[in-house]
Amino acid sequence: MSTTQEIKVEQAAMKRDFYHLIINGEKIKSSSDETIKVYNPATGELVAEVAKASKEDADRAVSAAREAFDNGKWKKYPVGRRAQVLNKIASIMRARFNELVELEILDTGKSIHAAQGQVMQAIEDFEFYAGAIVGHRGTVNNVPEQFHNYTEKEPVGVCAQITPWNYPMMMAAWKVAPAIAVGCSVIVKPASLTPLTTIILGEICLEAGVPAGVVNIIPGSGAEVGDYLVGHPQVDKVAFTGSTPIGKDIMAKASQSLKRVTLELGGKSPNLVFNDADIDAAVDGSLFGIFYNSGQSCEARSRLYVQEDIYEEFMSKFVQKAKAIKLGDPFDKGTHMGAIIDQRQLDTIDSYVKSAVEDGAEILAGGHVAKPEGFENGFWYEPTVIANVNHDMKAVKEEIFGPVVVVMKFKDEKEAIKLANDTEYGLGSAVWTKDGAKATRVANGIQAGIVMVNCPFSAFPGTPFGGYKQSGFGRELSIESLDLYTETKSILSYYGSRPLNPLGV
Ligand code: NAP
Repeated sequence: MSTTQEIKVEQAAMKRDFYHLIINGEKIKSSSDETIKVYNPATGELVAEVAKASKEDADRAVSAAREAFDNGKWKKYPVGRRAQVLNKIASIMRARFNELVELEILDTGKSIHAAQGQVMQAIEDFEFYAGAIVGHRGTVNNVPEQFHNYTEKEPVGVCAQITPWNYPMMMAAWKVAPAIAVGCSVIVKPASLTPLTTIILGEICLEAGVPAGVVNIIPGSGAEVGDYLVGHPQVDKVAFTGSTPIGKDIMAKASQSLKRVTLELGGKSPNLVFNDADIDAAVDGSLFGIFYNSGQSCEARSRLYVQEDIYEEFMSKFVQKAKAIKLGDPFDKGTHMGAIIDQRQLDTIDSYVKSAVEDGAEILAGGHVAKPEGFENGFWYEPTVIANVNHDMKAVKEEIFGPVVVVMKFKDEKEAIKLANDTEYGLGSAVWTKDGAKATRVANGIQAGIVMVNCPFSAFPGTPFGGYKQSGFGRELSIESLDLYTETKSILSYYGSRPLNPLGV
């Protein structure tokens, strides 16, 4: 069979009833024969079954990654050749864009707008790192005469990459692209709820020419297989995106062998609207900031603070538009907001809203489980706006991870910064003002990895993404990520003619 024919067969089969693990370049079933059932959150219908990796499978994946890293050719390729393969991955993804979008929607219930943007960003990540790796290199340093010092950026080794369910395709790309760009081998463990596009990404990597063993994909239980990978003696680095409590466990476990760790964790990001802002732009940007991806975003701006003298005007527009957000068929371009990932998350969201009401808050919009027509068996929640809150309330302090925003007034710049920083998290934040000097002061005062000024978007390929405080550490999506997948080796040599005898013996 020619390569072209093979690709055609693969393309036709992207949507399937069953998905395999990818270990050492092969599509295989689980050693335990167990499977994960994947449901469409918008409808509650079964989408597919996926091989569920056991610890034995994890061992095989680690061995394959180890062999590929220690004795394989990938890390020895000239950098331009690795870049070529990354670009090829991107071009296959572009050619199969609609299929990837469809699969991501079926797997997550997100709206087509969200899925299209995220798949496109995943493609651009590979293109970004194909370019970035070419300029990523060590340095030549100043040392005393007759010495020479330079540094090499060496790939860190075998990386376990554990991803969440909210942005499956994008999170996999954020991790796989920089790691393989520098020559690492990876074992990706996607979230059990959303493994499909990550498996397809693994297949695309092979099709594009990534050698066997460099990219392994093993869906499986986080508590079992994820935890096993974190403690595995043959794993050099763990890159984790997920909740803060699990991130803490991972850090503790990885410390036993001093594995390199990057953690992209939860958030409760503030959104500050000043009285000199373009109010209509701030309303639209703040709506996007919380309701995009059904609020299931780590950097969702879920705490909205509005300066007191524009509060009434701003809130009247904001609430009106929140009520106009359309839920329904995720494949319909007129749908604004997709489903919630599963019943458990839906219950969590609802319990936070109920707790706010019990604590005396006022619901200005939403506040209930939704049942869009034709999608009654799926998991949906109304876009919800909650006022009359304070910082002691659970719904204000904790990450809800759903389409729920809490709103408060502030008096002045000083109070806005104080409120923004009154959280254990530090991931995203947004500032709306026409005063450039104020925007700069506030951006400097906020303790967060990302500040969006008059802008609802948190990142593009090339902009560092990561947190302060309990939102984790390390940066993804940027040049810095290449450093986090490499070790710096310093080579110091002497070229003088006199032998060196520092002890004088
Ligand atoms: P999660 O429950 O922490 O799970 C994340 C991943 O970790 C999943 O693959 C999960 O596997 C696995 N896992 C669970 N227990 C584990 C353990 N003991 N050891 C190793 N791995 C384990 O988070 P989630 O509910 O999927 O995602 C939502 C969270 O992710 C939110 O807090 C959100 O803010 C955060 N997030 C952060 C960023 C960022 O860049 N900062 C981006 C996106 C999401 P299973 O699926 O099998 O449980």
